[in-house]
Amino acid sequence: MDSRCSSLNRHETLAKLQAEQFDLLIVGGGITGAGIALDAASRGIKTALVEMQDFAAGTSSRSSKMIHGGLRYLKNMEIRLVAQVGRERAIVHENGPHVTTPEWMILPIYKNGSMGKFTTSIGLSLYDFLARVKKGERKSMLSKDKTLQMEPKFKQEGLLGGGRFVEYRSDDARLTIEVMKEAAAHGATVLNYTKVNAFIYDEAGQVIGVSANDQLNDQTIEIHAKKIVNAAGPWVDTLREKDNSLDQKQMHLTKGVHLIFDQSVFPLRQSIYFDTPDGRMVIAIPRDGKTYVGTTDTDYDKDLTHPRMTVEDLDYVIGAINYIFPNLQIQASDIESSWAGLRPLIHEVDKGLSEISRKDEIWESSSGLVTIAGGKLTGYRKMAETIVDLIASKLQAQSGQNFASCHTKNMPISGGHVGGSKKFKTFMKSKIEQGVALGLHRDIAYRLVKKYGSNIDKLYEIIQNEKEEATKFGLPVEVYAQVMYAITEEFVCTLVDFFWRRTGALLFDIDWVQTWKTAVTALMSEKLGWREEEQERFTMELEKHLHDVTAPVQ
Ligand SMILES: Cc1cc2nc3c(=O)[nH]c(=O)nc-3n(C[C@H](O)[C@H](O)[C@H](O)COP(=O)(O)OP(=O)(O)OC[C@H]3O[C@@H](n4cnc5c(N)ncnc54)[C@H](O)[C@@H]3O)c2cc1C
Repeated sequence: MDSRCSSLNRHETLAKLQAEQFDLLIVGGGITGAGIALDAASRGIKTALVEMQDFAAGTSSRSSKMIHGGLRYLKNMEIRLVAQVGRERAIVHENGPHVTTPEWMILPIYKNGSMGKFTTSIGLSLYDFLARVKKGERKSMLSKDKTLQMEPKFKQEGLLGGGRFVEYRSDDARLTIEVMKEAAAHGATVLNYTKVNAFIYDEAGQVIGVSANDQLNDQTIEIHAKKIVNAAGPWVDTLREKDNSLDQKQMHLTKGVHLIFDQSVFPLRQSIYFDTPDGRMVIAIPRDGKTYVGTTDTDYDKDLTHPRMTVEDLDYVIGAINYIFPNLQIQASDIESSWAGLRPLIHEVDKGLSEISRKDEIWESSSGLVTIAGGKLTGYRKMAETIVDLIASKLQAQSGQNFASCHTKNMPISGGHVGGSKKFKTFMKSKIEQGVALGLHRDIAYRLVKKYGSNIDKLYEIIQNEKEEATKFGLPVEVYAQVMYAITEEFVCTLVDFFWRRTGALLFDIDWVQTWKTAVTALMSEKLGWREEEQERFTMELEKHLHDVTAPVQ
């Protein structure tokens, strides 16, 4: 087992962070921080990363979960961006085919809608060309009849036809964790539940370290590094305030909410991208027997850690669904779960909100603290390459060190070592057979192989060797294996870590959470040595999440 990713080794990792001098320390364990850690560590830069919550607990588990091709940028004719994002999408898929799945989307075209038939056709063709979309994934235009054949529940009035194109569906939290595991495999020292409270400076006022607090055991340590990157997402300004470097360029946060329905209530056959009554565009995606729909986009200035849907958010998304699917008559009581995330958008205070930017930016304060903000899941690898190029040149200027250039383009992430996307199907087939031979139901084997990719062997090892232990805890062996793997290989510390960010069940399979939560609590409690107070705290936290995902704030 790789001890670098084991929650059982927190004390050793804390001691290492305290004792050693790093080239680079990253603050923030979302996709941005994880990407930087992987790029830097794989170039030979001695890298550390700390995250104050669980990895991906910020925006990186709360997105629309799409590896976008950048189609939306075409509307503003941002040609270079479309080309770059399209190519990145292909790279992300190639390096992690188990966490990104090609998904055909339909964009229905209505009379007086935001996109006409002609503009959609030209736009999608241009997009195929710019993003060098693979042959089998290029767009097609659909007649009204064909559109209705593919999605019979669309509103028929005013429907002219549809455009069909491919996007990639992902699991944002698992993508982040797989990148983090790969970074650790390349030598990065990474730790969750470790919060940076203050920066440490030398006599010249240059930042040389941080004071950080272990949020689980209230232990404070100092971590020293030659360069420090602030990759704190919605919290980047909180850290810039601590660095006294908050200037005119500041974050403006907007909230995006998604709702989840059972397929029996919202039986969507096909992923779609559609107009709302107020002229925005939202998505609806079928996943694991559910359909999720979103997103909203409203200004936000409340609790950054636990954004939630409000009654207005709920009404807005339900209004958008009923606008395009009038026969479904979806109601608020139909929702099964939800999530809300915060977009950290960059704006200049003196220019007002009209000049807000949705692009990523990197800047450095006079203390040498480098901040990165505004990026997307899709562009994480490229963004990391840009920032690590900068860090490597600064390290070279500072201490004469030389590092390899970026080589993450052809580097599988953890679980993605399957020989590329083309071989993933064959890989899955043979591993599913192996799972069935171990006594697993075919559907369960399929789900495990799809989720864990090339790490499936480690789960199969647990399944083969620890059946009795699973029975002792009253758990099916595959659930037991997922918990054990999460503890020993995926930094899991709490029940919400497991039920939200490692399995996605809090969003997409609440019944599974309700069925197994007591047995999983007993297992985690024993393996992680929880005190009574801890077990109570983590249980209450899970119950609060189970409540909050279904109940809107008034
Ligand atoms: C509603 C919505 C939908 C989106 N949909 C998509 C999409 O479909 N596709 C796409 O490509 N992008 C999408 N995005 C954008 C994407 O999700 C984000 O850009 C990305 O997740 C940001 O990652 P991050 O690592 O910068 O921030 P985060 O994931 O928020 O990570 C920052 C981390 O820093 C930690 N931190 C903060 N302060 C400290 C501290 N003092 N000490 C230690 N750690 C600290 C936080 O706990 C947090 O985990 C969407 C965003 C939203 C809000």
